[in-house]
Amino acid sequence: MMVQASRLREVSFSNTLAMNQRAGKLASQGREVISLGIGEPFTEVPKSIRDAAARAAERGEGRSPPVDGIANLRARVAAKLRDVNGIACEPAQVQITSGSKQAIFNAMMATLNPGDEVIIPAPYWVSYPEIVRLASGSPVVVSCSKKQDYKLLPEQLEAAITPKTRWLVLNSPNNPTGAVYSSEELAALAEVLRRHPQILILSDEIYEFYVYSGDAAASFAAVAPDLAERTLTVNGFSKSYSMIGWRIGYAAGAKDLIDAMSNVQSHMTSGTATIVQAGAIAALETISLDWLKGLGATYNARCDMAISMLADVEGMEVVKPGGAFYLYPDCSKLIGKRTREGTLIGTDTDLADYLLESRGVVTVPGSAFGHGPALRLSLTCEQDKLARGLTLIREAVSELN
Ligand code: PLP
Repeated sequence: MMVQASRLREVSFSNTLAMNQRAGKLASQGREVISLGIGEPFTEVPKSIRDAAARAAERGEGRSPPVDGIANLRARVAAKLRDVNGIACEPAQVQITSGSKQAIFNAMMATLNPGDEVIIPAPYWVSYPEIVRLASGSPVVVSCSKKQDYKLLPEQLEAAITPKTRWLVLNSPNNPTGAVYSSEELAALAEVLRRHPQILILSDEIYEFYVYSGDAAASFAAVAPDLAERTLTVNGFSKSYSMIGWRIGYAAGAKDLIDAMSNVQSHMTSGTATIVQAGAIAALETISLDWLKGLGATYNARCDMAISMLADVEGMEVVKPGGAFYLYPDCSKLIGKRTREGTLIGTDTDLADYLLESRGVVTVPGSAFGHGPALRLSLTCEQDKLARGLTLIREAVSELN
């Protein structure tokens, strides 16, 4: 009989992936399923990227990758961080990883001792607390309400810090809320962090180009260059270039941190597939900044359409976020209602279950992100499906009483 390691006791399977697995099961039974559950861009991987990877495969590239990434790619990422994000960085300070998820994993495994605390503002991306737990750390979740646009306030940060605090995790634009921190808001958090030199900052900027204003989001290390030595900037190719299935991301920070992360990576994946790295080099070489900044505009229109449709859904309250590609309607007013069959909607998980079972619409409950009652709706499916999914939600919610 399998005996599960104690480190897994408090770690749960990714909730977003679990919802999608359930949806897949319903679809295989012939049900119509509309997925507003997964955070995957609807655009395909640009051809120049696919061609570069195919050429690398044709050349027979298949040798062991350098642990921290191909030199050319590390140099191009360093140049991108400098030119686009305003972060001074050498290629030796960059690590290429198998998805940005792995960059976060490497960082936590490389730095946390049992009991070390990591401050995570909620709503948060589902994997942060679980990665911290897997690395023997303790997540310290700080709740950020709708009233404060789901953003961490400097006084909340100050109050959450203890002598055991090792990291603060920032994510802007945010999954699941779409909140985007302004430079001023980041600067105010930096002011607090200056008083606590033991704290490292992990800035997850994977949605950087999904900003409705059309500008890239501000980078923490650029706003507070004096804290750049303590900042690990995490990013990847999954969202900007739709390369989620290629599994490639990167981290940039102090050389000694990158070296420690390299130690972890050398025993875990040995490095990212060279063919995939060839595609990533092409992404940085061939895809223009204007094209990337256009991503936000595409979703801006979808976001407006979805918000106007949700305005008719009684009991769901949503504010337009600054970016990413999600909506995060507050569903407090639906809790306590009953379905036509008399089933109680006691939590946002019950609500998500009801939408899935009664209408085949996949959503993710806010509780998965450490903050509810709410639902995360992804705007990434085809526009007609998105509209149909929202219509079905409206219909299902109108039947509750
Ligand atoms: N960070 C955030 C905020 C995310 O939403 C995701 C994926 O959804 C990731 C990191 C992981 O991305 P990947 O590992 O595909 O680079």
